[in-house]
Amino acid sequence: MGVSVAVLASGSRGNSTLLSSSKTRVLVDVGVSCRAVSKRLKALGVDPYALSAVLITHEHTDHIAGLRVLANKFHIPVFMTHATHRAWAKAHRQENGETPEIEKLEVFESGHKFQVGDIAITPFTIPHDAIDPVGFAFRIEGVKVAIATDLGYLPVSVIDHLRGSEVLVIESNHDLEMLRGGPYPWSVKQRVMSRVGHLSNEALADFFSTDYDGSAAYVVLAHLSEDNNHPEVARRVAEHALGTRRTLLHNRVLLASQDQPLEPIRL
Ligand SMILES: [Zn+2]
Ligand SMILES: [Zn+2]
Repeated sequence: MGVSVAVLASGSRGNSTLLSSSKTRVLVDVGVSCRAVSKRLKALGVDPYALSAVLITHEHTDHIAGLRVLANKFHIPVFMTHATHRAWAKAHRQENGETPEIEKLEVFESGHKFQVGDIAITPFTIPHDAIDPVGFAFRIEGVKVAIATDLGYLPVSVIDHLRGSEVLVIESNHDLEMLRGGPYPWSVKQRVMSRVGHLSNEALADFFSTDYDGSAAYVVLAHLSEDNNHPEVARRVAEHALGTRRTLLHNRVLLASQDQPLEPIRL
């Protein structure tokens, strides 16, 4: 089997990514319905009952909407920070009038490494307008994989956690011009562009051409805005910034999408 990374859904209507070793399967975020995640897992030959854990990055709906149903239906342990759990429970209570029950809740702290099966996981703090948002760095059978979406900019602390990744799933949310001239109200534009909003194609390109170590075999552009970006624009900007580092073996740029799961990356 080996190591694989499968982005099941990515974007403001829902995010979910499956990471697998030979023995362990973890799902990062459940931002689409239980039914949709189950369907996409089954299409990959993965039984939802075989998931070892669900990890949650932050409490925004596009990362957590299907969590309660999926976790309880298939008895999957859920890992999130205490603050994220509290914020999610509060929002859920306000919306549905009841506290969401999670059968098996495990709490982690940003910056503190933990283990699920044979996968080592390091959560790290990202700048985003949620209560305690994190990205994740994984060590799976000697391979490093990092996921960082929903971040207003790339601070040095985040860049440190991305170093040495063989698979880098990173946000390329919007094209600045498209966002400025696009349909969102000004307040929303300001939020997206802020230091706790979302990473633009341009900010990512800046990282690729300066601080990025060039280590990834695969770079997955994720959480693309459907209103303020275009996949081919995001790809072109990223590929241009990666320049000559983009070879047959390194920095192949893939595009994660909302409605179509990305073909699993096998390492
Ligand atoms: Zn999001
Ligand atoms: Zn978010």
